[in-house]
Order: sequence, then structure tokens, then C-alpha cells
Amino acid sequence: MATVAGVAVDPRHWIGGERVASARPAGGGATFTDLSPIDERPIAEIARGGAAEADAAVAAARAAFPAWARTGREERARLLHAIADGVEKRTEELARVETADNGALIRSHRRGVMPRVAHNFRFFADRLLGLGHDDFETRGHRNHVSWDPAGVCALITPWNAPLMLATWKIAPALAAGNTVVLKPAEWTPLTASLLADIAAEAGLPDGVLNVVQGYGAEAGGPLTAHPDVRRISFTGSVPTARAIAAAAAPHLTPMSLELGGKSPLLVFADADLDLAADLAVEQYDNAGQVCLAATRLLVESSVAEAFTERLLARTGALKQGDPRDPGTDVGPQIHRRHLERVDGFVRRAREAGARALTGGGPNDDLGGLYYRPTLFTGAPDGAEILTEEVFGPVLTLQTFDTEEQAVALANGTRYGLAATLATGDPDRAARVSGRLVAGTVWVNCFFVRDLAAPFGGSRLSGMGREGGDWSFDFYCDLKNTVTAPWAG
Ligand code: NAD
Repeated sequence: MATVAGVAVDPRHWIGGERVASARPAGGGATFTDLSPIDERPIAEIARGGAAEADAAVAAARAAFPAWARTGREERARLLHAIADGVEKRTEELARVETADNGALIRSHRRGVMPRVAHNFRFFADRLLGLGHDDFETRGHRNHVSWDPAGVCALITPWNAPLMLATWKIAPALAAGNTVVLKPAEWTPLTASLLADIAAEAGLPDGVLNVVQGYGAEAGGPLTAHPDVRRISFTGSVPTARAIAAAAAPHLTPMSLELGGKSPLLVFADADLDLAADLAVEQYDNAGQVCLAATRLLVESSVAEAFTERLLARTGALKQGDPRDPGTDVGPQIHRRHLERVDGFVRRAREAGARALTGGGPNDDLGGLYYRPTLFTGAPDGAEILTEEVFGPVLTLQTFDTEEQAVALANGTRYGLAATLATGDPDRAARVSGRLVAGTVWVNCFFVRDLAAPFGGSRLSGMGREGGDWSFDFYCDLKNTVTAPWAG
């Protein structure tokens, strides 16, 4: 047992209702070390899974599937609500452990993230009870559409919002009657283990939820290549998505991919510039490690100076430091390797001719993994910093003179996850949002998300949509039963 932030966390896998250590020989890499981004100190030794654990977890999930699929909707919904109760009871513990593990702000975990984790379960439990389709007639024949559970789902998740993103998949998959194997990110394995405890305490039958810990290719690879896996839901980077798609190809396993972005924030001259600057500074949330972040600020030339002044004032007021301090606004990067990757983008941006108006390097006052919120201007067309996802606290500013130019710039990357508009003109908002390639467009707001809405990305930002009934469409095999009129 590891004790993290005063909370006992089991570092082993959770397979078929039992805690399991890795089959690897001792000394041969049976565990890996989990570091806290707050100070880069080790916080736990985690079981390092491989093909043996992936196979065992899929077998357990497969064995549990028939009974869970036959369990009535009301009972499944009741159990999901019981898990939500458990999450709510342990919100403070989950928040503390998640902050220790991924370095995101404790105040966000307490106020927003953990309540949303509970809501993920409640929302899909309730949605399940309303799921249906009116039967309809074809020449006297009755069409009846049903959502049949698909089977074992492999869920693979990233480190930037570990429990929130895992439960966004687990809740609809379980509600639909599937059984799941979760492979959390190796940099943030802890809250998945706590969730296994919570689900067991809530009475979820053994094998319905399984957790395999470990590295991506080693533990996730065998899961995504497994012939008994009927759905893969992945959130993470584009290169990993390609590896997963290749692994799943022999079995044509259906997959949902939620990937990276390089989203724009368009600021038109008719916008409320204070609101626009508030929206822009929000993009440093989670130290920039947010897939939806609008990292490309596209600003109409006539207001660029006034907007920049406001943004720099807000950025200067951000407090960077220990994420456990409720007064902190910007915490650390997740890992030294990630910080170096972010810094590489920043160095190359400078070499390409971009100028940092603020930030531009690690925060030397704090040391460790703290990187200064950075704003670049003057990057040449096509520069890497304008086209590739950094996934750190780095924004770029470009200007435009016409709506046409704004739309071309906004759509000018290979991604299409989200876009944000700041404008005072409703007609312009409708016109421009209609032309943007993005799974979500926010007008004069950011990050307002209803679980009933479809969520996902276009182009390299993903494949498919989850949320609302779209989640059930993905996690189920839809069936239409056509019945001829009965005699008599
Ligand atoms: P990543 O792709 O490196 O890892 C994600 C997960 O995939 C981890 O659990 C990892 O262990 C696993 N993995 C790695 N290689 C694998 C393989 N060969 N087979 C199976 N699994 C494998 O991504 P990351 O660095 O953890 O997360 C950051 C990325 O996630 C960014 O690109 C970000 O934009 C994206 N993201 C997208 C969304 C969204 O909803 N669109 C949300 C959050 C993060």
C-alpha cells in the first residue's frame, strides 16, 4: 500500500475483483516509480502490467459480461449512482491524491473536477433510463430499435485530467451493459486505483470494472490488439492513436478517438476586449495541459494592441506555485520529459523569429517543473509553434484584417477540436461559427460543457463523438428488430 497525501492507495492492478501484482519477476521490472510533479519526488511504486495482465483483465471482463449485460437498467443505474455517492464521499481524498499525482490545482479538483466525476456517473445512469426510440411501422411491420451492449471495452486515458476523463468513458460503457478494462496513464495511475475501491464498495460485481496499470505500448498495446475487446475508447495524442488504430486493425475493433488540438480564439474588433482577455488568460489553466485550450489567439489588427495590453496585465497577475495552495493559479508541468518537450517548442519558436512578450522559459524562482506562462508574437507563417500542439502554457498571437482571413487562419491547422469567438455581433458569430472546422465552438465563453452535448474533434483531433446518446451509440451494437403482423 502506498500513502499519498495521507490517503492509502493500492498500487496493484484490479482484475476480476482482486488486487493483483505484476507477473514480472522481482527485480525484472515488476513495478515502476510514480513521481509527483509538485517536487519530482517518488510517491508510489506501481504494478507494471504487460500482456499477461491485459489478457487476465480482458478474460475477467469477458466472464463478467453476460450477467452484467442481463442486469436490468434500473439496477445498473442504481449501482452507478452508488459509485457517484462514493466519489462524493471521498472528494477531498480524490482531490488531494490527483493533485499530488498530476500537479493540477487542488482548488479545481475540489470545486470542479471531482464533482464532475460524480456527475459523469449520475448523468449516464439517468440517461440510460430514458434511452429509447419510438417503435415505428413499415407496411404493418413493427421496427424496434435496441441498444445492445457491445462486450468488453478497453479504455485508455491520458494524464492531464485522469479521473475525469476515465469516468467520462467508464460511466456510459458500464451504463450500457458493457464491462471495461481501464489503462490509466503511467504518469497518473493513482485515482484509477481509488475508483476501483469505490466501485467495489458500491457493490459493482467483480470483473465489471478492471484496472491494468503500466506503460503505453507494454500494457495498452496488448489490450488494443486483443481479439475479445469489442470497443476501444482512447483519449491522448495523435501518434498513440495511430499505433492503436494499427493494433486494432486486424479485428476491426470499433474505436473512438479524442485527440489533440491547436484551437483558435478569434477576437473581433467588435468584441468586449475585457471579456476576450479573460477568455485568453483562461488558456493557461492546468498549466496549459488542456486538449481544448485555445492556444492560437487570432486578433483583429485594429484592437491587437489594446487586447495585448489587457492580456499581459492578466497574465502578470497569475500566481504560479504549489498546486496544493488554494491561491495558486498555475501549477507545474506533469514531468521533466514533458517540460523539456515544451521548452523545445519555445526554443525553436525563437529560432524561427518569434518574440516572447512574456514568459519564454522555466520559472527559475521556483525551479522544478514550473514553466512561465508564455505569449509569442511574430511567428512566421507555417512555423511549428503555430501549427503543432505544445500542450503547455504557450500561446501565440496573430492578427487579421478581414473575417475571411480570420476563418482561413482558424482552419489552417490539421486539427479541429474546438474554437472560441469573441464578438459583439450575433450575425458574425453565426456566420463564422458555421465555417469553422471544430467539434465545439464557444461564442463569448469557454469550457461550458453539458454532458448531453456531442464531444469530439474533426481532422486529426479525433474520430467519433461521445456525450449524451452518442456515447450509447458508440458503446452499443444498435439493433433493429422488424416484426411482421401477428396472425389473428
Ligand atoms: P499519450 O498518447 O502519450 O498517452 C495516452 C495514453 O495512451 C496513456 O495511458 C498511455 O500509456 C497510452 N499509450 C501510449 N502508447 C500506447 C500504445 N502503443 N498502445 C496503447 N496505449 C498506449 O497522451 P498523453 O501525453 O498522456 O496525453 C496528452 C495528449 O492527450 C494531448 O495530445 C492531448 O491533446 C490529448 N488529450 C485529448 C483530449 C480530448 O478529449 N480530445 C483530452 C485530454 C487530452
